[in-house]
Amino acid sequence: MLDTTEGVNFDIVIDEFEAMTKDAKRVQEETLKKILEENAEAEYLQKLGLKGKTDLESFKTHVPLVTHQELAPYIQRIADGDSSPILTGKPITTISLSSGTTQGRPKYVPFNDELVESTMQIYRTSFAFRNREYPIGRGKALQFIYSSKQFKTKGGLAAGTATTNVFRNAQFKSTMRAMQSLCCSPDEVIFGPDFPQSLYCHLLCGLIFCNDIQFVSSTFAHSIVHAFRTFELVWKELCNDIRYGDLTSQVTDTSIRAAVSKLLKPDPELADLIYSKCSRLSNWYGVIPELFPNAKYIYGIMTGSMEPYVKKLRHYAGDLPLLSADYGSSEGWIGANVNPKLPPESASFAVLPNIGYFEFIPLGAMTEISVKDNESSTLLCVDPKPVGLTEVKVGEEYEIIVTNFAGLYRYRLGDVVKVVGFHNSTPELQFICRRNLLLTVNIDKNTEKDLQLAVEAAAKLLGKEMLEVVDFTSQVDFSTEPGHYVIFWEMNGQASEEILRGCCNCLDRSFVDAGYIGARKVGAIGALELRVVRRGTFQKILNYYLGLGAAVSQFKTPRCIGPSNNMVLQILCNEVTYSYFSTAF
Ligand code: AMP
Repeated sequence: MLDTTEGVNFDIVIDEFEAMTKDAKRVQEETLKKILEENAEAEYLQKLGLKGKTDLESFKTHVPLVTHQELAPYIQRIADGDSSPILTGKPITTISLSSGTTQGRPKYVPFNDELVESTMQIYRTSFAFRNREYPIGRGKALQFIYSSKQFKTKGGLAAGTATTNVFRNAQFKSTMRAMQSLCCSPDEVIFGPDFPQSLYCHLLCGLIFCNDIQFVSSTFAHSIVHAFRTFELVWKELCNDIRYGDLTSQVTDTSIRAAVSKLLKPDPELADLIYSKCSRLSNWYGVIPELFPNAKYIYGIMTGSMEPYVKKLRHYAGDLPLLSADYGSSEGWIGANVNPKLPPESASFAVLPNIGYFEFIPLGAMTEISVKDNESSTLLCVDPKPVGLTEVKVGEEYEIIVTNFAGLYRYRLGDVVKVVGFHNSTPELQFICRRNLLLTVNIDKNTEKDLQLAVEAAAKLLGKEMLEVVDFTSQVDFSTEPGHYVIFWEMNGQASEEILRGCCNCLDRSFVDAGYIGARKVGAIGALELRVVRRGTFQKILNYYLGLGAAVSQFKTPRCIGPSNNMVLQILCNEVTYSYFSTAF
């Protein structure tokens, strides 16, 4: 039996999950009934004529599929202080701000206690499965987690990113304690006002407690890679701080300084040890297990837009396993990774049937039409016919629709998932991509995944010169006739012109969509352009988003820059050092 400190028995957590997933259809019906009962008074449901009915047929007949756009006016009224039952029976008192990095702008979404509860449920569930395979001992976790700025909406509601709302909730700490996963850094570091100072102090606290660290984690894997890229630059300064027990003057925030200084005592022995370990490493391979000898694994979301960081993470991780974390969004959680032994590339998520009511639009059967909006092209479907959670088929791709306890009804999340199997009777999903098309000039259709694969293929050519792509994004440039794809690349060094020309041609050839190839051959799409940007450009983009209220914990590099994202485009264009046009076609 697993040892616990807060009375949570993780064997029981697994048993409950097994029982619930064996009965997923019934649990889904009950969950829908409960959501509709609790929110029967909500103006939104009343207006749709549901009249307190809680059965599936009435729900499907009366409630339409919606996107965030349709719900936005209701959410805005809540944010503006209207406390009548608008979307939920009980008034919403907190608003989450989605990262906005996938869609270009942050969105407001309702947040409530039920979302906190389902977050804790999913944390406990995946931990229970993880700990069965990779048990951790008593100790601490080096968690690169950061809160965003919290602010009040016009109506006085607390607003912040969903992760911030969770980190600030008392249940977060008690759940982490029960999982023996408390963050080694004090709260002042997590909630500090300045990201670089918080990051530096997370690293410092990790080193102070290096023998206690049981695992290294972040919400999205990008934050861990970013942290160790920074470590490569500041490790000597960290050693100095530890040697003399004196925090660098670069950390100026008084609350962070006070909290971290309390932990810092002169320790020349530890400083020497870290110094000699770092000096011995070859190109920082395996730095994480070297610094944290008792760490059992690395944990964070490594799927979807995080996949491009997995290679670098593996490099830092050496022989430590990478465990991919769960699947969710600001709107709510969806599934837990209950097969932690699978590598990130094949990680899947078993849907928790009691945290929401889930429907799936089969993509194969959908009539797709490409429509341009300001951001990018979007796939719209004509008369989509969603199926229920237990009706999905293995091997098929679906767009996911969520109904939850926080006032979202038949809400199109915008994600495409693939069913790769079943855990009892609940499906295991793999994340495929956002539904929005990323790159399209005319008849071509390329998603975030297509871009990622093209970049991966082309980046292999850099290996010859021991270089790598630090980060990337893209744009469709319509200022030329015809329009063409532009790929922005930041690398960790200077590549030769010959190699970069090869990379550019390889990128162009790696978009295997028939529409793209056809249009390129007849000249209806111009030659792909590779623009190399200076080192540090993507850090500037991250800083720009942080300035808008985003949180590092939820940051995802935008993979396509639409015309409405002028500021980011400007940052990129100012930093271009070379540009190459493909001669592949
Ligand atoms: P946000 O609410 O802005 O933090 O973004 C939520 C989005 O992040 C989801 O809709 C997904 O597109 C993406 N996401 C969240 N979890 C995962 C995961 N485990 N794998 C891949 N993508 C994910």
